Amino acid sequence: MKAEPTSQLILLEVQHLDLDIERNRHRARTLPETTLVAELTARDTALRDHTTAAATRASDLAREVRKAEADVAQVRARADRDQSLLNSGQVTSSKQLADLEHEVATLARRQAALEDDELVAMEALETAEAEHSELVDQTERVRGELAAAVTARDEAMALLDAEFAELRQVRDSTAAPVPTELLELYARIRADNGTGAAMVRRGRCEACQLDLPRGDLDEIAAAAPDEVVRCPECRSILIRTSESGL
Ligand SMILES: [Zn+2]
Repeated sequence: MKAEPTSQLILLEVQHLDLDIERNRHRARTLPETTLVAELTARDTALRDHTTAAATRASDLAREVRKAEADVAQVRARADRDQSLLNSGQVTSSKQLADLEHEVATLARRQAALEDDELVAMEALETAEAEHSELVDQTERVRGELAAAVTARDEAMALLDAEFAELRQVRDSTAAPVPTELLELYARIRADNGTGAAMVRRGRCEACQLDLPRGDLDEIAAAAPDEVVRCPECRSILIRTSESGL
């Protein structure tokens, strides 16, 4: 292939800009802000599950407390009734009196046991409510952090996207004078090995860093300036300048 030396020289600049564009996109793909958003989103999701579980636990325990309170009230009402009956003097049979007294004593023990259950349930409820409330606070903190992280990520991404758009524009206007055929060759080589065009500097290919053998250097030096020469090792288009050492 043949191309004006000036067009060949422009390829070096295009290569440089393409590398900048590639770095820009790599930074966009690997933004630490994006990682943080993902981490905080995962934490928020986990917290939501934990908070729901804690709320269910607290509501189950509240039901247990209400049930225990109702049980205690029922036993207390019956004991009160028995006690009133005893106090009324209406019961005179000694067997009936003994039965009533026995029942009052049994109910008192039963009430004490139920009150113990109620206390245990109330303590468990208190713990569950504290846990739930702590989870709600944590969720609020994480959501605040998440909102800030999303803003930071969007800002960082907007900066990178603006830089990308500018680089693309500069790259396109820089490449405009280069013949399509040469640009396509450059693009194909670049797609294959990452570097489409490189300078020969002091006898070395700057794409693959190979010190070109004397014979190849002689051939490159002898080639017409508009001849497009390639690295025998990495196939990059080799650009000859005054620093090439030919
Ligand atoms: Zn090379």
